[in-house]
Amino acid sequence: MSQTIATALSAVHQRIALAAGEAGRPPEAITLLAVSKTFPASALREAYAAGQRAFGENYVQELSAKAAELAELAIDWHFIGPLQSNKTRAVAESAHWVHSVERLKIAERLSAQRPAQLPALNVLLQVNVSGEASKSGCTPEELPALAQAVAALPGLRLRGLMCIPEPTADEALLRSRFALLRTLLAALNTQGLALDTLSMGMSSDLEAAIKEGSTLVRVGSAIFGGRQYQH
Ligand SMILES: *Cc1c(COP(=O)(O)O)cnc(C)c1O
Repeated sequence: MSQTIATALSAVHQRIALAAGEAGRPPEAITLLAVSKTFPASALREAYAAGQRAFGENYVQELSAKAAELAELAIDWHFIGPLQSNKTRAVAESAHWVHSVERLKIAERLSAQRPAQLPALNVLLQVNVSGEASKSGCTPEELPALAQAVAALPGLRLRGLMCIPEPTADEALLRSRFALLRTLLAALNTQGLALDTLSMGMSSDLEAAIKEGSTLVRVGSAIFGGRQYQH
């Protein structure tokens, strides 16, 4: 089993390196986030033993439980799932990053609830790059004002943007979704922000995302296999 996760991880690293090479980018410019939702702590331990340090979780209780169980490991925890206001405290207390902020109210709660002894929580704003086909994320029109407001919150450090395009077999359409997120980030940086993170690309589309400038790919099934249950 450990062989399987280690082997899968190295295959993903090869995919990243190949896509980066084709895009003329250094492979170190892309962080691999291992999305471990639904998998037991033992699977994370195996990935950790193979060198993986950044792990992504979608469900607040699962994040809290795994962070407690694996407290002795030097893991960077990323919360990537939908976040309701009554669940922000647990995320503010146990995550290093949150990818799914789409409303100022959630950001304000995370900032207020971030423990003072911890460094600022790294935050990405989730953007709906697919129009009506996807319900998650702020719209590109809402983004500039949201970004400026979030950047001003003391407990947070706004680092960039995240998207989940609608599933499509149309490679050009997919690339255009990722390109939109890259363009939006560049525009914010001309407006006084200093954002360095584009969270885009998953198991099935990380190559397209890397070619459009992704700095962080979120990969679950290609590392851990198919998920056994859905929440
Ligand atoms: C589950 C999930 C992933 C990983 O998806 P795979 O297709 O298994 O790689 C990435 N990002 C988000 C937001 C997810 O919920």
